[in-house]
Amino acid sequence: MKKSAAQRIQDLQYFGEFGGVNPSISDSSTYTFLSAKTMFDTFEGNTEGCYLYSRHSSPSNLYLGEALASLEGTESANVYASGMGAISSVIFQCCDAGDHIVSSRTIYGGTYALMKNFLKKFNIQTSFVDTTDISKVENSITSKTKMIYCEAISNPLLEVSNIEALAHLAKKYTIPLVVDNTFTPLSIAPAKLGADIVIHSLTKFINGTSDAVAGVVCGSKEFCLQLKDVNDGAGMLLGSTLDSLRAASILKNLRTLHIRMKKHSENAMFLAKQFEKDGLKVVYPGLKSHSGHETMKAQMEHEYGYGGLLTIDVGNLDTANALMETMQKQNLGYLAVSLGFYKTLFSAPGTSTSSEIPLEEQQAMGLTDGLIRFSIGLDDDVHQTYLAMRECMIKHGVLATDKVEA
Ligand SMILES: *Cc1c(COP(=O)(O)O)cnc(C)c1O
Repeated sequence: MKKSAAQRIQDLQYFGEFGGVNPSISDSSTYTFLSAKTMFDTFEGNTEGCYLYSRHSSPSNLYLGEALASLEGTESANVYASGMGAISSVIFQCCDAGDHIVSSRTIYGGTYALMKNFLKKFNIQTSFVDTTDISKVENSITSKTKMIYCEAISNPLLEVSNIEALAHLAKKYTIPLVVDNTFTPLSIAPAKLGADIVIHSLTKFINGTSDAVAGVVCGSKEFCLQLKDVNDGAGMLLGSTLDSLRAASILKNLRTLHIRMKKHSENAMFLAKQFEKDGLKVVYPGLKSHSGHETMKAQMEHEYGYGGLLTIDVGNLDTANALMETMQKQNLGYLAVSLGFYKTLFSAPGTSTSSEIPLEEQQAMGLTDGLIRFSIGLDDDVHQTYLAMRECMIKHGVLATDKVEA
């Protein structure tokens, strides 16, 4: 039987120097060589298992990279100091000046700003399209297009990408499909569905303790080695290197990811269903009312559910802000950006994580200013959480008392 991603991670054994159950942390930036010839060969990239300098690679980063390659079922993976470090490395590796990217129009604000504003410096153009419409994606591809880029579940609108269809299209034009899978580790396995490169911000669910910033690129052995090339590897030369201490702590957290994802999904599904029943405008891929529900159902790994993110549109920004402040006072979660924490986190994306996107474009994609994004936490008694959140919503007129079931 083929092993699940969680089992593959569980099976990895790395022992520490003295037989410790966790691998030793490599607390060195540089490494000695017994012979000068070996040093030269290592520079040229010809010696496996030799370390040169920790921006290039280090044992702790390789352990974490290997575990994340197991997670995504790719040949290899490189870790970076942030999700943006991973994303920028991939783009600069794949694109030359004058090239073109076809990207989903609903993506993380930082990725959007990189593509829309920063890449102008290099004359790299991006067409932002609705990637749930495959014909629109195909019509945007030009002879200069070097990648199709999307998020498995998009930020913040939670649109579901049809990864199989996008991968099929990418193959037809022999360009890579790059998928940011930050929102749905384990739930969606983009590489299994045909994606060439899978990116994560490890800062979110994978680390899960909101104490570190990190990223990863999962892909073929060849592509991961290219990124590390001392002469023209974007990962090596842009310098977004993860510290070994952080790599070691993220590896330890990764080992409980499967348990956490199930609970995040279970809690989010419960709240989404309840609030939809109450008549709120809830967006959650697990709801039948979600336009991407069937696509998600067809491509997901069912035991991990539909993920921990949901949005509720409460009508306008003032109400959204007041409601979030009240929920925080009631200790139902924190008014904070980011996601994947044990505690529920909420923010209004229009004025925070997606504020890089101009207002007209926010409107065009359906990002309204009363939208609250929730990253649902690991609450032990989510029914109690629901009742308490409902009280806050009644207080701010988001829910009428008579509409609500007891
Ligand atoms: C947070 C996030 C990023 C950026 O990751 P950092 O670790 O903050 O650099 C990229 N994509 C998505 C979907 C994210 O949520």
